[in-house]
Amino acid sequence: MNVLYQAKPLFGTGLWAGMDRIEQKKFSVKNEKQFTKKDRRVDRHWSEKILGDMKERDWTIFREDFDISYRGSKVPKPMRTWVESGLSYELRKAVDRVGYRTPSPIQMAAIPLGLQQRDVIGVAGTGSGKTAAFVLPMLAYISILPPISELNEVEGPYAVVLAPTRELALQIEEETVKLARYVGIKVVSIVGGQSIEEQGFKIRQGCQVVIATPGRLKDCLERRYVVLNQCNYVVLDEADRMMDMGFEPQVVGILDAMPSSNLKPENDYEDLDEKRIYRTTYMFSATMPAAVERLARKYLRNPIVVTIGTAGKVNDCITQHVIMVKESEEMPRLKRLLDRLVDKRAIVFVNTKKSADFVSKTLEKSGYHVTTSHGDKSQEQREISLEGFRTKRFNILVATEVAARGIDIHDVTHVINYDMPGTIDSYTHCIGRTGRAGKTGTATTFLTLDDSNVFYDLKQMLTESKCSVPPELARHDASKFKPGSIPDRPSRRNGTDSLRFLCK
Ligand code: AMP
Repeated sequence: MNVLYQAKPLFGTGLWAGMDRIEQKKFSVKNEKQFTKKDRRVDRHWSEKILGDMKERDWTIFREDFDISYRGSKVPKPMRTWVESGLSYELRKAVDRVGYRTPSPIQMAAIPLGLQQRDVIGVAGTGSGKTAAFVLPMLAYISILPPISELNEVEGPYAVVLAPTRELALQIEEETVKLARYVGIKVVSIVGGQSIEEQGFKIRQGCQVVIATPGRLKDCLERRYVVLNQCNYVVLDEADRMMDMGFEPQVVGILDAMPSSNLKPENDYEDLDEKRIYRTTYMFSATMPAAVERLARKYLRNPIVVTIGTAGKVNDCITQHVIMVKESEEMPRLKRLLDRLVDKRAIVFVNTKKSADFVSKTLEKSGYHVTTSHGDKSQEQREISLEGFRTKRFNILVATEVAARGIDIHDVTHVINYDMPGTIDSYTHCIGRTGRAGKTGTATTFLTLDDSNVFYDLKQMLTESKCSVPPELARHDASKFKPGSIPDRPSRRNGTDSLRFLCK
């Protein structure tokens, strides 16, 4: 190290008396640069360092490498690996058994928060691994509680996960069971379309986790099939979607049925008692409409907002093609597109049940093995349909967005929006059925002039995702101005901005 550095005074100007000040400054700057360069050269990348050697700068690079950003106070450091996660040996073994070699970015960011009983608002894309990001801290929390036995089973489960649709709830159940079975934690799902009495019976037999759709769980609470007297861990998955579907009163009713005495103090986060159990609330939402904000204000305490990538952004693994078509061209184009697919496998989204029936019948006549899922089908039919597609008995799944929301099938390489979804959020959710778990995918959308109310948002989305904008869309007037009918679009797309008030 240079002598000037060693001898540098700590106070005042930092310059020595009796020497030319300009020369001193030049020398000092030159040496500063050399030092920094040398320091960089010898400094290793964070991935080559042990945890104890990580400096603030390493953490900054780490967060940038994984596109993790936080808003909130006293944010715990993310975890780099499962070994450093702070999860118990049993849970790490469970993770290993399900084959998750490295944590995904949302898991790196959110698991340490849950382990510290912090409230979390997560903004992460579809297929990001967010389920395990809330399930693992939930299982860690439950593992330290007394086992469910005859003594406490009447007080209800320890944790509740709410999801907007049956499909998503069942999928969360599957992911939770995958991990929970290794630690002996019992999971029950409560969704519509199945016998409520049977579900009530299962819960009364005792379970630690309930995964539910809000309507059905509220019903069970009202009929006293379930109580939530010892539930202190709650997850609201796809909260924006639950609000869109009109579930706000049910969600509020469920949250109010939990012990409020365990809510963290509203303004006094500093004084949290480490030994006490507080209610932990995880909320995942791609956008932040007013109803979600209301929930966050009322039930979350000093939350940390974690964003992976940009809010509302489409997963980078998905290539988006948008084709401007006339209505009469849609079916011939769809067939040509399907014929060209190597695996001849795709999910085709339509906006109406009528359209779903028309598309599936026409494709069937052309020799495709098609299965259909929409709101008029019973829960059982929808599950059979999905299973048939998952197991490749059918190569085409024709579905409405609601029926297929949250569906996670890894090897779907192509999604086709036969109809452009009515909002950009639905579009994001539809195309998010491909490009999952790190795989690449393609989404093709047929756009007609009737879809002009989403032209503006779609053009923005394609531009932000660096996908080509068809010339007819680019030059259409409706793509140049934000439609007046969606005044809150900017805050929805950058949803976390409006949550600044919540984070200290
Ligand atoms: P999710 O976003 O929770 O729907 O997860 C998408 C898919 O990724 C699910 O099928 C998970 O089983 C899978 N997954 C979750 N975490 C990991 C991980 N760390 N490594 C590999 N796959 C994962």
